Amino acid sequence: MKLQHKEIAIIGGGPGGLTLARLLQLKGARVKVYERDLNKDARVQGSPLDLHDDSGLAAMIKAGLLNEFRNSFLPGADRKKIVDEQAEVCFSDHESKAEENFGDPWFRPEIDRGTLRKILLESLEPGTVVWDSHFVSMHRQDDGWMLHFKNGDSFYADLVVGADGANSKIRPYITDTKAFYTGITMLEGNIYDAVKAAPGISALLSGGKIMAFGNNKNILMGQKGNGEIGFYASFRADEGWAAHSNLDFSDKVQLLGWFKKEYPEWSSVWYELFESAVAPFIPRPIYCMPADQTWEPRPGLTMLGDAAHVMPPFAGEGVNMAMRDALDLSEYLMSGNHGSVTEAISLYEKEMRARASAAAQESLANGEIMHSDKALAAMLEFFQKH
Ligand SMILES: Cc1cc2nc3c(=O)[nH]c(=O)nc-3n(C[C@H](O)[C@H](O)[C@H](O)COP(=O)(O)OP(=O)(O)OC[C@H]3O[C@@H](n4cnc5c(N)ncnc54)[C@H](O)[C@@H]3O)c2cc1C
Repeated sequence: MKLQHKEIAIIGGGPGGLTLARLLQLKGARVKVYERDLNKDARVQGSPLDLHDDSGLAAMIKAGLLNEFRNSFLPGADRKKIVDEQAEVCFSDHESKAEENFGDPWFRPEIDRGTLRKILLESLEPGTVVWDSHFVSMHRQDDGWMLHFKNGDSFYADLVVGADGANSKIRPYITDTKAFYTGITMLEGNIYDAVKAAPGISALLSGGKIMAFGNNKNILMGQKGNGEIGFYASFRADEGWAAHSNLDFSDKVQLLGWFKKEYPEWSSVWYELFESAVAPFIPRPIYCMPADQTWEPRPGLTMLGDAAHVMPPFAGEGVNMAMRDALDLSEYLMSGNHGSVTEAISLYEKEMRARASAAAQESLANGEIMHSDKALAAMLEFFQKH
């Protein structure tokens, strides 16, 4: 093994970085994950993620964690309703969908982000994750890299993997290509103890997901494991919308007023979302990497997940691509079939760019449809076919 007795540093302990750490450790590699969060509980994780058969789930299987996943996923949370702006249900698979169907490529089980992170963290050797390690810079030293962190620490690594998300600080050491704004912004809200706080919306949701379409905008929402509901109002806006909207995102009354103005055709059923959400709301401008991005492989340095190819969430591929990257990179690095680590990195990156580019184009195309006047008809046709 080319990486025997070598130090591997993964920057970022999101799903991509932690999956890679687990897969490398199973093959006997020496790995540290440097994560900027202060500890494992420092940050509330966002809405649930659905794992796909050939990517997220394939990585969990390879990581030997399918049983842990099966014990912790959210049965039924993948059931969906498609509704119009009046909250009339136009499609529902609540009656027809099995709660569990592992092995079927169309079964996309949901799991809370926090639960997924916990499963991956608990699978790692003690001390693998170095918390409170905010990467700031690095320079070449010997055949590897000297890494510097905000808290003053510095560590050497022979191989560095940037898994530090959409605003990666590792990426500029590999390429100058930047993500572009897609023209879509999502406004995120969360409702705690949803059955009590938002009984109307909870009844409509019935433990699954809702996609609501009308006037070129949409609302996407889903059940979380702890009785919460997470939702996004998704719409076209310019990149600086959050700053120049003059909205105070901590003020629910203002946000309800904004919704009434911007979604004028939508039923008052939706008002409950804004009345019962916990402040603040979070505006999320949606970015995407150019489909044709490329770069020369760097010695002892690569990246995965959103750091390499952030994409819109409209095909549910982001986390799946990150975990599939981890699976492929671990195989390339540890297989022993390649002349050098740089050659393994080069082959991994070539394949990863092509795969992620296809997923990003699908996500962009879905985003266009979901924010068009044909959204409802197109989404109904898509789900009725499957
Ligand atoms: C609104 C929205 C909805 C989404 N919905 C879905 C969905 O339904 N399905 C789906 O598949 N994907 C979805 N995604 C995308 C998904 O969240 C990402 O693709 C996925 O989290 C990428 O995983 P990652 O490990 O590459 O990066 P991340 O999950 O971003 O993890 C990066 C980690 O690196 C750490 N970090 C960052 N900077 C540093 C630093 N300088 N030093 C050290 N550590 C650092 C962070 O704290 C974090 O823990 C959504 C994204 C958004 C914005």
